[in-house]
Amino acid sequence: MGCSLAFYLARQGRSVIVIDRGRIGQGATAACAGGIRAQFSTEVNIRIGMEAKRVLSRFADETGATADFRQVGYLFLLTTDEERERFAEAVRLQRRLGLDDVVELSPSDAKAIVPGLETGDLAGATFCPSDGLAGPNEVTYGFANAARRGGAVILEDTPIDAFLTRDDTVKGVATAGGDVICQDTVICAGPWSAALGAMLGLALPIEPSRRQVFVSEPFSGIGRRTPMTIDFHTSFYFHPEGNGVLFGMSDPSVAPGEDTTVDWSMLERITAVAQRRWPPLLDARVKTAWAGLYEMTPDFQPLIGPLRPGLWVAAGFSGHGFMMAPVLGRWLAAWMVGGASPTDLAAFAPDRFQRGALQPERNVV
Ligand SMILES: Cc1cc2nc3c(=O)[nH]c(=O)nc-3n(C[C@H](O)[C@H](O)[C@H](O)COP(=O)(O)OP(=O)(O)OC[C@H]3O[C@@H](n4cnc5c(N)ncnc54)[C@H](O)[C@@H]3O)c2cc1C
Repeated sequence: MGCSLAFYLARQGRSVIVIDRGRIGQGATAACAGGIRAQFSTEVNIRIGMEAKRVLSRFADETGATADFRQVGYLFLLTTDEERERFAEAVRLQRRLGLDDVVELSPSDAKAIVPGLETGDLAGATFCPSDGLAGPNEVTYGFANAARRGGAVILEDTPIDAFLTRDDTVKGVATAGGDVICQDTVICAGPWSAALGAMLGLALPIEPSRRQVFVSEPFSGIGRRTPMTIDFHTSFYFHPEGNGVLFGMSDPSVAPGEDTTVDWSMLERITAVAQRRWPPLLDARVKTAWAGLYEMTPDFQPLIGPLRPGLWVAAGFSGHGFMMAPVLGRWLAAWMVGGASPTDLAAFAPDRFQRGALQPERNVV
């Protein structure tokens, strides 16, 4: 998010400095599964997903770098009638907003797209072939390097220790290497954003939550063009990764926190689900695994906008920040420079919880 915003701010002629306590791209983004989709339930997120695909399709023209964008599609498998009806309603909204290639599928249609799927108990599926996957590293460094060429400075290994304030106004940040004074400061610290807000006494409703990813050795049981496939009921998902398969599943029992150790017992639980849904996975040999942090908000929508004079936030993506950042970076830069958001981002207003004005996202994995 920080690198995308820096790129678009620099392009508008602003002096920008990105400050990271570690290396850019090594936070939540490093753990990301790379999924890009417009199959959401809320209008704002559908529009962002559609725009993200446009931005990533012309990424090389904009930044000179590849996004490694592969439009292999996203296939949602739906088990209950309630899920099928909910996704059907979302498909109607998506199509009304111009997502022409999204379709509802029968279970047998889904099986034809992903050989080996067990679909006997499914109520239905939805598929959007222009959704897909991109490279988190490629996109982060593509934005960062293009931002640098535009004059932005990226300061790594520099933790922010405190904010500089005068009365209610934020004037910059304090680091061990010195103070950085700036007109606008943006908190885009991923799962650690609430900790930064707490330095100012703000209670940003963003909680870190562990998610694990497993990747196999080369595996012939999945085609390179197999879509990102999500068993919505269990949240088990998989997609091709290199010559192997990448897969994962949410663990509802995991408490919020910053623990990123790999719990290998999760593999057994995923395997039990795969046995029922996609048995070919049982032949894959796991090569590596990692855990990263989602940045969850109560309504699964990010916080984007001003917090107080001189201070902004762009965080809390609830597991979708990789696909949202290329778009929200541009819109937020336009807002910061021009004084108004180019798009209605009321659903992301940081004070919406106090006002009770929520538009929760329902298609969350
Ligand atoms: C397993 C997993 C799978 C995912 N899959 C997808 C997916 O398929 N599609 C998708 O769109 N999203 C996905 N996500 C979510 C996505 O990765 C995040 O939403 C996104 O990367 C957030 O980017 P960010 O820039 O906001 O945060 P980050 O990438 O975490 O960057 C925040 C930066 O802030 C820095 N920082 C923190 N504290 C300080 C401090 N005090 N001082 C200075 N710097 C600080 C950190 O070092 C870090 O580099 C996934 C996440 C996980 C964990």
